[in-house]
Amino acid sequence: MSESQQNDTQATDTYDYIVVGAGSAGCVLANRLSANPENRVALLEAGARDWNPWIHIPVGYFKTIHNPATDWCYVTEPDPGLNGRSLKWPRGKVLGGSSSINGLLYVRGQREDYDRWNELGNTGWSYDEVLPYFRKAEDQEQGENEYHGVDGPLKVTNMTFKRPICDDFIAGVSEMGVPVSDDMNGKDQEGVGYYQLTAYKGRRCSSAVAYLKSAKDRPNLTIFTHALTERIGFDGTRANTVHVAIKGKRTMLKARREIVLSAGAINSPQLLQLSGIGPAGLLQQHDVDVLVDSPEVGSNLQDHLQIRMVYKTHKPITLNDELSNPLQKMKAGIEYLLKRSGPLSMAASQVAAFCRTRLSNDRPDIQYHFQPLSADSPGEGLHPFSAITASVCQLRPESRGHIHIQSKDPTVHPTIVPNYLSTEHDCATAIEAIKYTRKVMASEAMARHISSEHIPGPEYQTDEQLLEAARNVSNTIYHPTSTCRMGADKHAVVDPRLRVNGVTGLRIADASIMPEIVSGNTNAPTIMIGEKAADMILQDNS
Ligand SMILES: Cc1cc2nc3c(=O)[nH]c(=O)nc-3n(C[C@H](O)[C@H](O)[C@H](O)COP(=O)(O)OP(=O)(O)OC[C@H]3O[C@@H](n4cnc5c(N)ncnc54)[C@H](O)[C@@H]3O)c2cc1C
Repeated sequence: MSESQQNDTQATDTYDYIVVGAGSAGCVLANRLSANPENRVALLEAGARDWNPWIHIPVGYFKTIHNPATDWCYVTEPDPGLNGRSLKWPRGKVLGGSSSINGLLYVRGQREDYDRWNELGNTGWSYDEVLPYFRKAEDQEQGENEYHGVDGPLKVTNMTFKRPICDDFIAGVSEMGVPVSDDMNGKDQEGVGYYQLTAYKGRRCSSAVAYLKSAKDRPNLTIFTHALTERIGFDGTRANTVHVAIKGKRTMLKARREIVLSAGAINSPQLLQLSGIGPAGLLQQHDVDVLVDSPEVGSNLQDHLQIRMVYKTHKPITLNDELSNPLQKMKAGIEYLLKRSGPLSMAASQVAAFCRTRLSNDRPDIQYHFQPLSADSPGEGLHPFSAITASVCQLRPESRGHIHIQSKDPTVHPTIVPNYLSTEHDCATAIEAIKYTRKVMASEAMARHISSEHIPGPEYQTDEQLLEAARNVSNTIYHPTSTCRMGADKHAVVDPRLRVNGVTGLRIADASIMPEIVSGNTNAPTIMIGEKAADMILQDNS
């Protein structure tokens, strides 16, 4: 495939389906919709081809996030809930989207998440109804069963990078009464154990690798890279064109059947707003003609907020020690080149734990990402001392933010207002999460390793102080969702078949449609959404 397959003839061409955004969901749609050679499909991606070698080396996210060649490099507005701090919000800008720069962790969420979507009026989205799509996507190393598939393109494999301190963290959490588990994506999520990864033989399995590699040479699929979609065009209220700048040159593509926005939780609402679908006042303020006054476009923004707690260890048993000099780094590089193993094959985190604080009786309300290393923030250098990180996040935050355009110019980033820690329940959960972590660190398995709490530090003791610590040290765990909420009510942005309310010929399929964020990482659920969307589109057009 050439970097951009565009030429003047194709640029004014007509397709049956145009998919905007080649991310976790968009790649699935491009593959499934073009499986029938009679469907002409265009996939438009603002970023480049995924040629950068760091994309494919698991630990390469340290090189690809905060890098404008692969990341949109969004920054949130100063957030009162974080004592006025702004956060960097990386989002993949490359084939594969955020699945090309993410932490590779394969997590689906809880049965109750999807049953709740269904209860909210989203017929067809209960756990039993979405499970076939998780299975369809998956090629599970642990084999096939009621919950897992082996025939899909998405490689899901066991963690190979392990260290004894990880086993001790597992033992420490199990001392809290949490069962040790080798499958937190099966019958029960509650448990502690190693994460599974979207990787294969030491290489990342992004959505582009999984879904585009086998489809890219189909004559009926055209993949445009460096193709920034600027807005959707309408004939009355029927979406029929995509206005796009391909390598900086403005053109228009026509859609015979449907246009699907898969631009992610920040760009899909931005594109709707730029196309005249959104809160009327906001659109008028930026001189955008209002096609549909849809007040919730860009609202309901949700994210998981991680409190990264760092503990110093007595002995040099951490990655900080293993990689403390250039010679050791070189050794790690050679190990990866020869065996595809070692620190370079490492995902963003090693141990998962889904636990219940005292605020939740029935199901886990917090998740751990445990790492045998520490840094001031992800992507920055390791600390020059022996330390580990137990990052803990609330699974179902109530806080809601929004995404608003701040210009009708599509190259201007929208404002991102997360409103973290803005409800009492979220604040209380943050406090409990810190207390829970301290108990784990005081367990028999862990206490013998720990010399001191480095972040937030022992000076934070009262509930008030712990909340202050959460506001000072927490960070995004990169899971924005729900800005084009799916629902059966008239305020929903899309209906349960993902059709944009108020117009025809336009759907959304990506993390933005989640009515509520799932209790876990969001890549696998978004790929599931892509699979289900493709099925619905093909059914509705047959
Ligand atoms: C650093 C990081 C770490 C993460 N770690 C994990 C993890 O370990 N496990 C997990 O499950 N989840 C993780 N996530 C979250 C997960 O990757 C995302 O939720 C998921 O990829 C979202 O998929 P999407 O299809 O909604 O959007 P994306 O995958 O972001 O895709 C959107 C695509 O649309 C393109 N696009 C946007 N606007 C336009 C436009 N105007 N014109 C053309 N193209 C456009 C973008 O460039 C992008 O390629 C992480 C995310 C990040 C950023």
